[in-house]
Amino acid sequence: MVNAIIDENKIQELLEQKASQSEIDEILNKALSLKGISLKEASVLLNIEGNDNLNKLYKTAKLLKEKIYGNRIVLFAPLYLSNYCTNNCLYCGFRFENKSIKRKKLTIDEAINETRRILETGHKRILLVAGEDTTQCNLNYIEELINKIYEQKLMNGEIRRININIAPLSVEEFKKLSSFGIGTYQSFQETYYPQIYKKMHPQGLKSNYEWRLETMSRAFEGGLQDVGMGVLFGLTDYRFEVLALLMHSQYLEKNYGIGPHTISIPRIEPAEGSDVASTPPNVITDENFKKIISVLRLAVPYTGIILSTRERAEFRRELLELGISQISAGSKTNPGGYSQEKATEQFSIGDTRSLDEVIYELTSDGYLPSFCTSCYRVGRVGKDFMDLAKPGLIQKFCHPNAIITFKEYLIDYAADNTKVKGNELINKFISNMQDSKQKELLLKDLQKIGEGTRDIYR
Ligand code: SAM
Ligand code: SF4
Repeated sequence: MVNAIIDENKIQELLEQKASQSEIDEILNKALSLKGISLKEASVLLNIEGNDNLNKLYKTAKLLKEKIYGNRIVLFAPLYLSNYCTNNCLYCGFRFENKSIKRKKLTIDEAINETRRILETGHKRILLVAGEDTTQCNLNYIEELINKIYEQKLMNGEIRRININIAPLSVEEFKKLSSFGIGTYQSFQETYYPQIYKKMHPQGLKSNYEWRLETMSRAFEGGLQDVGMGVLFGLTDYRFEVLALLMHSQYLEKNYGIGPHTISIPRIEPAEGSDVASTPPNVITDENFKKIISVLRLAVPYTGIILSTRERAEFRRELLELGISQISAGSKTNPGGYSQEKATEQFSIGDTRSLDEVIYELTSDGYLPSFCTSCYRVGRVGKDFMDLAKPGLIQKFCHPNAIITFKEYLIDYAADNTKVKGNELINKFISNMQDSKQKELLLKDLQKIGEGTRDIYR
């Protein structure tokens, strides 16, 4: 099938091509220039095998991530609003045919209560998530909720950026959504392979492959500037999915001048009432998952890659090395979960640690935890963000913002052992800073944070 966005035949052709060792080495070298790699080159890397080449790929991904984002890792928490859904995605616990689950949509007050539980842990950015049922979660509800969430203040904290993963909207609806003050709008294609898409989405609005595929185009036409794409890995050949995702991303860049702000890489996890989720059609091994992340990092170096708590803690630690730049932590995937509500979760979680435990490990491994929400608040969005991220200039903002927001966290929320490790890391970072003006500025900001000022950003 050929449509304007995905050329299935071309992808299949690319996947059949073979490459020599010198071609593989050349592609890996080229990737280090930060210019990205072509679809053909991505396909070569997706086909590589053997430890030597895989290790070279992982090493290149790590170097690239450090060049663009440095060692900062952005943290967020999902807030599940409702598990009502009019679709029947066979892999999901929320699908309407799953009669065994307890359904719940949070009232505005309940959602605010959840927000406050999240705020207590130290998070500053959240991702609103909902099943697709507009009789339950319509845009008026979302608007009222977003306004109320931004009004919340708890101790020294507040939510400073709200991203959103709700059902695809029409252009008119996206226009409305873009006036609500959100950061990124996320929606995952799940699978780009039309036949499998049809099989996995037998009923509901989501059964329309084209409607889903054109979501990001409608979002841009409706005025949104930052979009998050994704694939649900495990439904079909991961190599096809990665190339299709990249083709989609190139289409958006060509037609709207903006590529994906983020890419999410969920792997299917067991979900109550879903046979597909228990036995996915194309199980993605850990080794292939590492390959997916690395190739994405090389192909779209400027894009944030998001890893959720679907993955288990030890494996998340390994994946961070390969180019992950944002992670969720301390997550609940059932509506009301942060306030101990028993509604059914969407899928089971692999990393159940608290935010502070995750931060302790990040810091021990030399990563700089970041609660930064600066870019969208100063208008560094869409193309402006891409223009800074592509040549690696975004670090100039990411690093100081990460340190300032991390310092806030250490003072206001951290356990004693995290405080010690975190302050050590900040001191080490500052002593390694080359630019004396930047260093002086940062030290002044840290002093202000120490004296009680909050929410400094640049
Ligand atoms: N209902 C909206 C939709 O489908 O786009 C948005 C929210 S949905 C709860 C968010 C994502 O969860 C889906 O896009 C899908 O990729 C993922 N998901 C669904 N079932 C899953 C499972 N069993 N394991 C892992 N991820 C799953
Ligand atoms: Fe509904 Fe989204 Fe789950 Fe599909 S993935 S059943 S649309 S909540």
